[in-house]
Amino acid sequence: MSDIIFSGIQPSGELHLGNWLGAVQNWVRLQDRPGKHIYCIVDLHALTQDFDPAEMKRRTLEMATDLLACGIDPARSPLFVQSHVAEHTELAWVLNTVTPFGDLGRMTQFKDKSARQADNINTGLFTYPVLQAADILLYRASQVPVGADQVQHLERSRDIARKFNARYGDLFPEPKPLLTQTPKIVGLDGEAKMSKSVGNTITLGESEEVVRKKLSVAVTDPARKRRTDPGNPDICNIHSLHTIFSSAERVAEVRAGCTGATIGCLQCKSWLADGVVAALRPIQERRRELEARPDEVQDALRDGARAAQAIARETMTMVRERLGLWRG
Ligand code: SF4
Repeated sequence: MSDIIFSGIQPSGELHLGNWLGAVQNWVRLQDRPGKHIYCIVDLHALTQDFDPAEMKRRTLEMATDLLACGIDPARSPLFVQSHVAEHTELAWVLNTVTPFGDLGRMTQFKDKSARQADNINTGLFTYPVLQAADILLYRASQVPVGADQVQHLERSRDIARKFNARYGDLFPEPKPLLTQTPKIVGLDGEAKMSKSVGNTITLGESEEVVRKKLSVAVTDPARKRRTDPGNPDICNIHSLHTIFSSAERVAEVRAGCTGATIGCLQCKSWLADGVVAALRPIQERRRELEARPDEVQDALRDGARAAQAIARETMTMVRERLGLWRG
């Protein structure tokens, strides 16, 4: 089997700039590399947090629509919803039985999430890394695109693969991190990573008016109180975003204008808005086309689940054989 690369994303509704620049843009590029690329909307993982069941379908379809609008090509790379391939949970159960309890308790992700949702520390939150391992191992994926902050999660999946292989014979490749140079996008508060839960995002579907409005109140260099004060672009998130969305000439203009106090922050933000709006335009156009043909999105998910399940079934047949599980 050729190299398989697996990536998953939670159905958090619309994508924002942080998701796009930090992950999805890279996924789109990876499709040009040899191998098979599998993209999964991990709705079962989303159940471990507080959520509204009435919103789940909408959020899942929004996410799928955004991924397709960004350039995930379902003809080349299966895109599907985790709960549509039941083998994910079946393999997770098997992997639970080779995963030491103590290993999961030490995961910083569990500690962080428990602290954030103290009244909902459910067992799924604890065994989340096992389902994550199942997501990857089910496709015998050899590589997983991750940021440096996710390497610990992948190490747990590698460890679980090792434990299964040692007990039942080599079956799963140990998935390697495909470390990518993706920027960490700080939100409009200028402090935290851009995140829907923090409320500091610009979503990919945002209108020009909203993009301009949100940027106009975004945090800048806090020491620059008046237009006549020189600013420090190196500590200003607006400048960081310019390096992504604006031309080299404009970035140089921002730096000179900021340090020399010859431009105001509102002008600087308005230039940034020009770049953000221009970058989002083709995605929004493609999104409008998809919204006009919702069957296209659902068909892509259905085809993606079928393609993913073909591999998943093959893996589970081998897993059951290793375990001596008998099927009449
Ligand atoms: Fe930031 Fe631009 Fe204001 Fe300088 S001029 S502080 S880079 S927003």
